[in-house]
Amino acid sequence: MNVPILDLRAQYAEVRAEVDAAILEVCAAQRFILGEKVDALERQIAEYSRARFGVGVSSGTDALLCALMALKVGPGDEVVVPAFSFFATAGAVARLGARPVFVDIDPRTFNADPRLVADALTPKTKAVIPVDLYGQMAEMGEIRRLAHRRGAAVIEDAAQAIGAEHHGRRAGQCAAMTCLSFFPTKNLGGFGDGGMILTDDERLATRCRTLRVHGGEREYFHAEVGGNFRLDAIQAAVLAVKLGHLERWTEARRRRAARYDELLAVGDVTTPFIHPYNRCVYHQYTIRVPAGRRDAMQEHLARRGIAARVYYPVPLPLQECFASLGHRPGDFPEAERAAAEVLSLPVYPEMTDEMTTYVADAVKSVARDDAKAPG
Ligand SMILES: *Cc1c(COP(=O)(O)O)cnc(C)c1O
Repeated sequence: MNVPILDLRAQYAEVRAEVDAAILEVCAAQRFILGEKVDALERQIAEYSRARFGVGVSSGTDALLCALMALKVGPGDEVVVPAFSFFATAGAVARLGARPVFVDIDPRTFNADPRLVADALTPKTKAVIPVDLYGQMAEMGEIRRLAHRRGAAVIEDAAQAIGAEHHGRRAGQCAAMTCLSFFPTKNLGGFGDGGMILTDDERLATRCRTLRVHGGEREYFHAEVGGNFRLDAIQAAVLAVKLGHLERWTEARRRRAARYDELLAVGDVTTPFIHPYNRCVYHQYTIRVPAGRRDAMQEHLARRGIAARVYYPVPLPLQECFASLGHRPGDFPEAERAAAEVLSLPVYPEMTDEMTTYVADAVKSVARDDAKAPG
């Protein structure tokens, strides 16, 4: 049996008629950048995420960049980010000349440890960017309280967490700005790059709208320097169709994850820990395999036709591009341990029960062999 990490062709087959019709509308109108389709998507996603405003942008990375620019983050500022995330979380900070200040993660959830966020805040901290890794929201309430006490804003990186909830509040309701990604493999994926900034603050929404068109409130008049962070109408058309299916797809992911939880409960595999007050949308189903055996497990699964992936193999502070910050192995022990142990198994709505069982059996058989192996 073959189990890919994701099957976008299966998803497309399911919504093809709707999606193709929506794309053809854009072709007929010949209006490709921003416009009505983008406006409509902004309203729909803001409503879905229970935020007042949505600002469609060119990618999740540009959503982060634009949100930081809206807060005027620049040289001399510090921005607190988790040591374990996709690169863009820290990259956006560095691109503006600000300093990413890394905090280690809670080993149970892989999200920023709020106690360490408290220690990382200084008078120079302009913002904190908690990441909702793998689809589980970070400790948003606690982080927000800490940040506000020090006068720092919170930008939530919810690129992996559209529709996730924390104490009944959705990603989009818990931060000054929440950044989404519509990269094709995300839970809501376009046919190319795309992203969105959600906010309840009209002033910030307006700033982001201005920054995404080179900082000009009026065309050709520029009070400040922005970028080209615009979302395409074709992406908006595709995303609006897929949004109509997202809740059902998310529930299917959650059922797959629950099945894995049951099947993998025996043996020495560490399954995801989800706080009872969180609704995880399982962008990934990530297990831990004791360091030193993880890569062998991945190869073994590959031989059985199962694509498992490592998100992410290097903690952010140890990326070569951040060498000048002077971090050393051992500085972020939990992020480093996670980088050595995590393995994400296929979890996507179109997966069948047979596939889920097949993957779980394969994982268990390796785990058993490992346990028997001497040393
Ligand atoms: C995907 C992702 C991003 C970046 O989104 P793009 O649309 O690929 O630019 C940022 N942060 C996290 C946590 C992500 O997973």
